[in-house]
Amino acid sequence: MAYEAMYTKVRPKTLAQLLGQDHITTALTRAICNDRLSHAYLLVGTRGTGKTSTARLLAKAMNCEKVLAAQKSKQPLESFEIPCGKCPSCLSINSSPDNIEFDAASNRSVDDVQRLLSTAGLAPLQSRVKTYIIDEVHMLSFEAVNSILKLIEEPPPNVAFFLATTEFNKVPQTIRSRCQILNFHLVPNDTVAMYLQKLSKSLGVELSKDAAKKLARLAAGSMRDAVTYFDQCYAMADKTISLDDVNKNLGLVSDSDLDEIILAVKDNNRTALNESINHAFRSGLSAISIAEALIGRLRDVEFNSLKNRRDTELNFIENFSAEIRKIIVEMQYSGVPDIIFEMALMKLAAPKISTQTEIVPVEDAAQIESLDDIKRCLNELRTEISDREKTLRAALNQANVVSFANDILTLSFTSETVSDMFNENRMAKFEEYFSKKLNRPVKVAKVLNKD
Ligand SMILES: [Zn+2]
Repeated sequence: MAYEAMYTKVRPKTLAQLLGQDHITTALTRAICNDRLSHAYLLVGTRGTGKTSTARLLAKAMNCEKVLAAQKSKQPLESFEIPCGKCPSCLSINSSPDNIEFDAASNRSVDDVQRLLSTAGLAPLQSRVKTYIIDEVHMLSFEAVNSILKLIEEPPPNVAFFLATTEFNKVPQTIRSRCQILNFHLVPNDTVAMYLQKLSKSLGVELSKDAAKKLARLAAGSMRDAVTYFDQCYAMADKTISLDDVNKNLGLVSDSDLDEIILAVKDNNRTALNESINHAFRSGLSAISIAEALIGRLRDVEFNSLKNRRDTELNFIENFSAEIRKIIVEMQYSGVPDIIFEMALMKLAAPKISTQTEIVPVEDAAQIESLDDIKRCLNELRTEISDREKTLRAALNQANVVSFANDILTLSFTSETVSDMFNENRMAKFEEYFSKKLNRPVKVAKVLNKD
């Protein structure tokens, strides 16, 4: 038996089954009941939000005997009756020569389009209305667009065009202005999750609530992606699909692994972080996938914090998400993304120091020349750093004086992370401090010495 993707099996069969697009369902139902459908629609939206399905439903509805009869007798119809799906027209439309569907991505040239539209001027062979569904219309060449434009401007009788696009901005203005535009929204996660649970139940499998939520989140507003992910889990399922099953079947990091990473960074617990990163890597996922999963998880945490007005947590989440986004870009251009990921997270988990550090200069600005004196000076500085800046003091304890020559003081650090804590701002404060101590401008440099 030929395999049929679950998404094609569960495509909406009536306007009422089009989920997450209530504004479109309502508008189209009204237009159909009042017999005011346009001859050209531009369906705009992200992949998997129902554009092609809607175009097919409209093509069917324009020919549906029940719809036509209702229009004639001015009887109102409900969205679940459009189209009826039972009349001879509804049953035969998929194989009808009057129902032409093609993808502009693979039929871009003017020759392709003219060939496909060559019969547009001829009367429909079987149906009342001849319908053209053109996917990814923004991919058409300039000449191909012009040949469609002519047809839309002066439409032959009984012809309707449904042009779908994921990239509205790339559709020429001339097309946009001649079509009725239907804007498809991302399907809300709750709607997707509820639908998946219902679908699963109808297939005799119980999909847990958190598993459904996870699938919805992964699909990011695309019903097609959601059903495809669900199908992957369903194929392996027995009687139930849990969150763990979803993670295993789709090769995802579990939320608890992600939470452990987030918590370790938040608590500056680098030992725990190291363990949780290694644990996440054991799932076999790439560092980039884990980083992307982290962003998704942070979004959930952010949502919860927003609901509960936890402002400090929000700050942390926003900063952390921004950092992860930067890391992802860095990883994309690196040959060693795993190392970049681990190092960057470790750096994020390093104890934070306030940039407001006050380094109070000692009053006695005695002349100091020898290296020993410089070392003594550094020790004094350590004692002067207030308790408030314990981490900076601890970091400074790891600094070694390498040399002092030509008024340049060179400090060495054995750890990159500790070295990174001494940013430009902090180095400038050191320079100010030593310059005061030595009564002349002093430069401070740092080197990394891992041996
Ligand atoms: Zn029908």
